[in-house]
Amino acid sequence: MHGSMMNYPLTLARILEHAHRIHGDKGVTACSSGSPEPKHRYTYAEFYCRVRRLANVLVQLGIRPGDRVATYAANTYQHLELYYAIPCIGAVLHPLNVRLAAAQLAEIVREAEDKLIFVDGRFASRFEGLQKEIGCLPSIFFRGSGSPEQASDSDEYEALIAAADETDAWDIRDENWAMGLCYTSGTSGEPRGVLYTHRSMFLHTMAVNQADVFGFTEADVVMPFVPMFHAMAWGVPYAALFAGADLVLPGGAKPARIAHLIAETGVTVAAGVPAVWGQAYPELRSRAQDSASLRQIIVGGEAMPPRLIEAYEQELGVEVRHAWGMTEMSPTGTLSMLRRAHQNLSEAEKWKVKAMQGRPVPGVEIRLAEVTGLQTAPTVSADSSSAELPWDGETIGELQVRSPWTVSRYYKTEPTAEHFTADGWLRTGDIATINAEGYVQIVDRAKALIRSGGESISSVALETALMAHPQVLNAAVLGVPDEKWGERPVAVVVCEPDEAEIKPAQLKARLAKQFPKFWIPDRFIFVDEIPQTGVGKSDKREIRKRVLELS
Ligand code: AMP
Repeated sequence: MHGSMMNYPLTLARILEHAHRIHGDKGVTACSSGSPEPKHRYTYAEFYCRVRRLANVLVQLGIRPGDRVATYAANTYQHLELYYAIPCIGAVLHPLNVRLAAAQLAEIVREAEDKLIFVDGRFASRFEGLQKEIGCLPSIFFRGSGSPEQASDSDEYEALIAAADETDAWDIRDENWAMGLCYTSGTSGEPRGVLYTHRSMFLHTMAVNQADVFGFTEADVVMPFVPMFHAMAWGVPYAALFAGADLVLPGGAKPARIAHLIAETGVTVAAGVPAVWGQAYPELRSRAQDSASLRQIIVGGEAMPPRLIEAYEQELGVEVRHAWGMTEMSPTGTLSMLRRAHQNLSEAEKWKVKAMQGRPVPGVEIRLAEVTGLQTAPTVSADSSSAELPWDGETIGELQVRSPWTVSRYYKTEPTAEHFTADGWLRTGDIATINAEGYVQIVDRAKALIRSGGESISSVALETALMAHPQVLNAAVLGVPDEKWGERPVAVVVCEPDEAEIKPAQLKARLAKQFPKFWIPDRFIFVDEIPQTGVGKSDKREIRKRVLELS
């Protein structure tokens, strides 16, 4: 028997309408990367009017429900307007990673069959490279900084908005309609498309707004430093508006400017990958008074080193919420917070808990499946549904997940056994343990696990241990082919500037205290920086290429 409650479609238009009606006096502050540019601030009421006009622009340009509309932009207010206007007319928002090479991006645009692309003027020259690859895709440019009043007559975006009317153009027929398309960041494989629905994004928004997840409140000023082309900026642009928090959009600002942005805008919560927080830390420490409003950072995309967690929590008094997720999960899956039961732990033990990837967000189910095989990339047994492993904090297996905001198949493909189990769970490709309290600890990516003499070596565990050394700023460990052992680990290390030189023997001795002898890297290569992917994670493919060139 069906219940008698309203069948109320969960669509993004509801988030926008709520922000307008209930929080119309709150708003957006958009910053520019170049300091001479003024900030632009406007209310959600004004934002709402512009989104309605933009929706009408899209309709007039012939965009129909289901059409993919791409963006090629930094975190600007125009990008935020597109985040709402495109899905609210039933079309599909497709943010492109501006840091990808033109040829790689062209393949993505071709597969997505984007009809139109909105381009942030600051990337005009980079965009030319993409246009050459894809032929002439219709494009509309906007000025990625300043306010609409400062726009010149040649600003196409502003001219279209000024000429449009504000009538209702929302056209979403049901909550399962597609709203967004993001490609995985391709850290360890080719990018794959994930097509979100209104329902999945709405539920993800509700989930992250819980107190023990991102927990945004009306009193917050939220800054997504995570780019808006990375996994829907982790849902922050939807969650912040639904909560009625103010939003600060940093444009293309560098992490070193975070302290400055916080001082100017009173940011209370900011989200970004660990590399961002590593780079922002010195400035935040030296301007601690100015950035006192910052109470919490949300970090994910890669493991946050415990030393950095400790530095933020203890030295800056900023709470670190360490999350694990995937583009495939909209992207939030788990989050590490201390439980009441942890209150009496020592400080060091608390950082260890926080450095884990944490417990599933309510609504997400997790399980561990057996990892089999002795080859370089371990396989997970095909019948993994029957091989669930214990949550004892020790048994290592592949992490599998399901939730209302997890993908059920990749864009334009049928579900394959490589990515989905027979009973419909997503195979994350992450190798992990889960402890009795439900905390996930990612040990490695399946493809990054080093296989030496038939045994596994966790590159993540070695990296974490190396980064715990006070003189090490960053580290990456990878397996290189070895005639005798199959693979051997090599460590690439970035030292803290101005610190005394570290000797490989010192690092080896340190690792030997924690790991078996065969885990200790044969070589330590000291470099000035570790190459990063387009979303700020260590680029293992590029590091491998460089290490092999040096061999
Ligand atoms: P993507 O969706 O392409 O950005 O990458 C998702 C992958 O990033 C996951 O499958 C993990 O391997 C990795 N990842 C995300 N968050 C974390 C985290 N907190 N710790 C370790 N790895 C993470």
